[in-house]
Amino acid sequence: MDLFEYQGKQFFASYGMPVSEGALAMTVEEAVGAAERLGTPVMVKAQVHTGGRGKAGGVKFAATVDDVRTHAQNILGLDIRGHVVKRLWIEVASDISEEYYASFTLDRSAKMHLGMLSAEGGVEIETVAEQNPEAISKVWIDPVEGLTEGAAREWVAGANLNPDANEGTVDVLQKLYIAYVEGDADLCEINPLILTPDKRVHVLDAKVTLDGNSTFRHPDYAEFEETQERDEREEAAYAAGLQYVGLEGSVGVIANGAGLAMSTVDVINQVGGRPANFLDIGGGANADVMAGAMTVINNDPNVKSIFINIFGGITRGEEVANGIIEAMARVDIDSPIVVRLDGTNAVEGRTLLKPHLSDKLMMADTMLEAARVSVELAQ
Ligand code: GDP
Ligand code: MG
Repeated sequence: MDLFEYQGKQFFASYGMPVSEGALAMTVEEAVGAAERLGTPVMVKAQVHTGGRGKAGGVKFAATVDDVRTHAQNILGLDIRGHVVKRLWIEVASDISEEYYASFTLDRSAKMHLGMLSAEGGVEIETVAEQNPEAISKVWIDPVEGLTEGAAREWVAGANLNPDANEGTVDVLQKLYIAYVEGDADLCEINPLILTPDKRVHVLDAKVTLDGNSTFRHPDYAEFEETQERDEREEAAYAAGLQYVGLEGSVGVIANGAGLAMSTVDVINQVGGRPANFLDIGGGANADVMAGAMTVINNDPNVKSIFINIFGGITRGEEVANGIIEAMARVDIDSPIVVRLDGTNAVEGRTLLKPHLSDKLMMADTMLEAARVSVELAQ
């Protein structure tokens, strides 16, 4: 779950990090009103789920309220890497002496959290990593131990910041780590973290990705969930309560369990096809869930065939079969369906499906065979 910058800053501020005062604006008039209240100069900042806004003209300094009006007019509706700007964040402008980079992510192969700090902030970290990798000071943090103050000091000392920034950076990094862990974030990035001429360390940008599966622990994340940007297919899947990710191919995928859904995507690729989506219907393959899944996939104009890959565990084969039969009676499906049904009560399930088989509904014995047939049908 990606946050907009202003939401990320709100999240950071709740953990005690210093951010600028600001206001959200959906229209030019709201932007002007915000600037009048905050007092100029302000920054006018596009709120989109992508970086590099500055380069794309989505971050502008406004010395006067008239400048705010001009910039707001230009930025609202701007397309930044495929994201159309619908909201602006107006914030009190800061004076900058230096720009740094700071982040936490999970290093899966090391099984540890990874902190990165660099004196070369303001530019994309990928560029720094490519051209000047030694400019990034890294620290691996054992999740059981956490980030101790001593480790934070050593880490900051290795980044060669302006010495005036060291104390403030240690403080921000410790708070950022707590936000990252307690907030169940996958990524917390500040770029730039700035040192001001009066020697304060201050958060000027926020890129935060929260773990969408942790929302049960964080009722306050509901407001972040509301502003998620999904394509039409993803929106429909989300409304139906499905775990869905849209892809670019032509074979629609329905599977039970995230692992099997990913294997299904892989096996389609393996036999030379391209999956149109990832879709995990989870444990309950009843008619409602099946109909919901089939509707979402059927509405995708790229889909030319549908591969239903079910391995019954707690879900029994005849439930799955009945789900498919009922769903087909309810939803008019355009593409041919290939079913692979295995696991608990698979034989009973297949027996139920048999009388319904046609050129619109086929069965295959193995996952590989089902993949081959669905890929062929999609071509
Ligand atoms: P990004 O381009 O999407 O990463 O957006 P940022 O929020 O990082 O802004 C891009 C750049 O604009 C920053 O690296 C700063 O150089 C500049 N900038 C942002 N806010 C301020 C501010 O308050 N004052 C000044 N002087 N520059 C700012
Ligand atoms: Mg930035």
